[in-house]
This record gives sequence, structure tokens and C-alpha cells, in this order.
Amino acid sequence: MSFNSTPIEEIPVIRDALVKGFASGKTKNVQYRKDQLIHLSYLLHENRSRFVESLAIDLKRPALETDFLEIDGTIAEVREAYTNVEKWSKPESPAFSLNWFSMNPKIRKEPKGVVLIIGPFNVPLWCLLGPLAGAIAAGNTVAIKPSEMTPMTADVIAELFPKYLDPEVVRVVKGGIPQTSKLLEYPWGHICYTGSQRVAKIIGVAAAQTLTPVTFELGGKSPVIVDTSADLKLAARRILWGKCANAGQLCVAPDYVLVLREVEEQFIRELQQVYTAFFGSDPAKSDSISRIVSPQHTLRIKNLVESTKGNILIGGQIDVNERYVAPTIVTDVPGDDSLMTDEIFGPVLPIISVDSLNQAIGFINSRDHPLVLYIFSEDKKVKEKVFSSTNSGGAVANDVVILPAAAGLPFGGIGASGFGYTTGKWGFNTFTHFRGTLDVPSWLDKVVLGSRFPPYTDKKLADLKKNLNDTLPLRPGTRPVTALKRRWGWWILLALLSAIGALRKKRFVAANICRAAGRKSIGRGGLSQSCDE
Ligand code: NAD
Repeated sequence: MSFNSTPIEEIPVIRDALVKGFASGKTKNVQYRKDQLIHLSYLLHENRSRFVESLAIDLKRPALETDFLEIDGTIAEVREAYTNVEKWSKPESPAFSLNWFSMNPKIRKEPKGVVLIIGPFNVPLWCLLGPLAGAIAAGNTVAIKPSEMTPMTADVIAELFPKYLDPEVVRVVKGGIPQTSKLLEYPWGHICYTGSQRVAKIIGVAAAQTLTPVTFELGGKSPVIVDTSADLKLAARRILWGKCANAGQLCVAPDYVLVLREVEEQFIRELQQVYTAFFGSDPAKSDSISRIVSPQHTLRIKNLVESTKGNILIGGQIDVNERYVAPTIVTDVPGDDSLMTDEIFGPVLPIISVDSLNQAIGFINSRDHPLVLYIFSEDKKVKEKVFSSTNSGGAVANDVVILPAAAGLPFGGIGASGFGYTTGKWGFNTFTHFRGTLDVPSWLDKVVLGSRFPPYTDKKLADLKKNLNDTLPLRPGTRPVTALKRRWGWWILLALLSAIGALRKKRFVAANICRAAGRKSIGRGGLSQSCDE
């Protein structure tokens, strides 16, 4: 099988087919969407071995990582869309409003139309087919553009899609910059782009020309804080796994560690132990580590490692032709190091020691908002402090990487790590236009709305205003002192006092009746209470 890009002249034909597919109205039918989603899940399930093979060639990725981390995660996304599409696509009513309810206000969930999904090389199935599930569930027709950097996987996707999915609903465009540039000439209902910050700026400029809304799923440097209260064995195991899965080429990989000086030595000892347990004495011979996507990216990482001012504690072996980077741990890394400029996107872990939690937080806050922030700590207050005094796309305590797979949670970046969401209901919403509708009865003109018509008069204005609730909330620091409110307060107090007075009076009368009869009153029932015998 060889990678052939889609000829540029075919792109308008592909787009026309998708426009026709959308105009046919078939994707408005929710059952039709569900059928496509079922086919998509079987496409993944029945071709696991094809994808395991293609990613073994593209990235020398271990089967476990493709099968469990990527395919199962993507199938879960498709299944969630399949299970919930009826509920998600039902029209909703806004909160009741006396002024508006008679106009039958509704929020209709309309597809945005023909949408474009552009994927990266590193997790091609998850990044293309996850958003695709949301786009199909929302009723769109979709062009997807896999990365040219994982050509075998792009080939398998292009071969399988027409066999499983309606070609008027989903089409694949293979290729690189020329194909993407051609695609970007058109207006789309939405563009979902997953990739680097550099290319996102190009996509954003092109999308602005056609007024196409975009979602950017980007990366960046996701930090990990290791606190003094952390379970250091657990932290070392999870962090090293997250750093080395897919050879560090995950948007959610822990990029660097900020460790509290008090526990640094012990944490590094734990890392050394877990390193040998994971990869043996020669990681180049391990079947559990992927390769870097290209010699160019390997060279990029090599340059970063060679220019570090830190101390290479373990690893550091890099073979550009073999696209191999040994899992590498670098200690004593200064904040302005070569390893601290851009997202590393390779199995190299810089460790920076800090004197305090505040210093770690300050370090993170002085940089771009990360995609995910990780904190290892057994102390509730420390975790809360880190969550509440930083900002990031997402945040996880005591684990790494797994956040995008968590059902029901939004996943997306903030600032330089992207914007918008692509998972679960949040993905459905991304590809949905929330269309507000009203159905206004004619009789409203007789009751109230007639006053809006010319000729305008003061009386009409007063009539219109009468129906508006135009009271503003109180200014901060002011107390509710309006005459009306004060009066209501007094009335309530008076009513309470009167009720208490009445009750006491009843008891008093009842007790006197008993006394007159020469008996003692018992019970608490006021007049209905009884006297003893
Ligand atoms: P990339 O930006 O190089 O490529 C992504 C896509 O853009 C590819 O399909 C490519 O063909 C296209 N492209 C590249 N150059 C282009 C240009 N000049 N004009 C138009 N299109 C162009 O990204 P990558 O290296 O494949 O992916 C790695 C990046 O993606 C990392 O930064 C990673 O963090 C990020 N990522 C983010 C998420 C997330 O969910 N937030 C997921 C996976 C990867």
C-alpha cells in the first residue's frame, strides 16, 4: 500500500458531494445518524489489527497502546454519541419567563452543515474519529483530513471509510499542506483542528477569511507538581508511563516536573527504579516504546537535549535515522533551559526543583495556560490550592494523560493550548447550532405588544415599561433598603408576632377553663387541649 495524496482537483468534487449529502436532509434524521455511528464503531472494532499494524509502521507503536489507549477510547466516544444522540438533539425550552412563555420559546439543535476535521499525526484515530462522532451525531456531513505524517494510517482510514460510511456524509482527503490549503479556501460550517500552535495560526487566518468558526485542540507544556505529601512511588510510575506512552507524543503527556526540593532525591530514586522495571537496561531493545514520527522531529528533540544545561541522569541516547529517543530524565533543569521553551513531544522528562508550592504555582502562572495541569499530593488542601490558583484546559490530581477519556467531562484547552471541546456532549455541542425560535401569537398585540407601534406616545412607553422587570441588582456592598422591601420585612415580622401572641392567648384561655373546672390543663393543643381528670 502506498500513500497517494488526494488530487487537488478532486477536493471541490468531494466538497460538492458533502454539500449535496447535507442538502438531501438525510442527516436530519436521528436514526440515520445512529446508523452511521454504528458503522463507525464497527469500522474501528473490525479493523483493530489493521490500525495496530499501520501505527506499528508509522510510529513503531506497541499494540497495547493502539488497541487499548486509542481504539478502545475512540470506540467509547462513538458509543457515547450513539447512546445519547436522541437526548442531545431534542429541542429544549428555556427557563420559564412570564414575559416570553406565551411565544413558545425553544432551542432547536441544528447541524452546522458541512464541517471539516483536520487531524495530527500522534493519535490519528482519537483526534479524527472522536470529533467525527460528535459531528455525525449533530447531523453534519464531514470532510476529514488525516496527517500525512502517519501515511499508513491515513491510507487505512481512506480505504475503510467508503466501505462503512455513506460517502455523501463522510469523506477523507489525504495529503499535506497543498490539500489543507485547498480545503481552507471554502467556507465550512465549522473547522475542528487538532495540531500544533504554529499551524493553528495559519488555520485561524484562513478560517477568518471565510468566517468559519473554529475549534483548536492544541498542545503546550503540561506541568506536573510533585508535592511533599505525594506518594512518590505512585507518582514516579504514573509520570514515567505518561511521559513515555507513544514516545511522549501525546498532547496530554506530562511535559516537565516541578518537584518540591524536600522530596526531590527520593522521587528521583523512585524514577530510576521504575525506569528499569519498564524498559530494562537497554530501552532500545524494549517493545514498549514507540519511535518518533520522523527523523526531523527526532533531530529537533536531539537538539533540545544536547543544549540542555541540566544533568542527563538516565537515557539521552538518540538515533535520528532510527527515529529513536531513549526515555530520558534530566535533573537540575533551569527555568530558561532549551527543554523549557516549547512542548517537548518526546520521551524526555526535565525535572526542576522548587522550594515551595507557591513557587511552583508562580512558575506555572508565569507561562502560557497548559492543556492539562497535574498535581501529585495526598493533601486535600494542597490539591485544592493548586486547582484554584492556576488555570489550564483541565487538571488532574495523582494521575496523568487519562483526562480526555473521562466520560461526561469537557476536554479542551485555554489560551495557547486551544479553545473549544470535542468529547462527548461537548463535542456534539461544538458541531451544533443552537437556534432560538419563537412562535408569537397575534393576540399579544392586543394585550401588550401593540404599544410598540407608531405613532409613539408617552402612554405607550409607560405601558410597555409596565411589563418589564427593570429592577437592577443591588450594587456590591449595599443592603436591601428599598421602601418596599423594608415594608415587607415589617409585615412578616408583625405577622409572626401576632401568630405567637394568638397562640399564647389560646393557651392562657384554655388553662383558665381547666382551672375554673378545678382541673389541671395537659397537652399543648391550645383550646382543643384537655384537662386532667
Ligand atoms: P501539525 O500542526 O504539524 O499538523 C496538524 C495538521 O495540520 C496535519 O493534518 C497537517 O497536514 C496540517 N498542516 C501542517 N502544516 C500546515 C500548513 N502550513 N497549512 C495547513 N495545514 C497544515 O501538528 P502535528 O505535529 O501533527 O501534531 C502535534 C501537535 O498536536 C502537538 O502540539 C500536540 O500537542 C497537538 N495535539 C493536541 C491534541 C488535543 O486534543 N489538544 C491532540 C493531539 C495532538
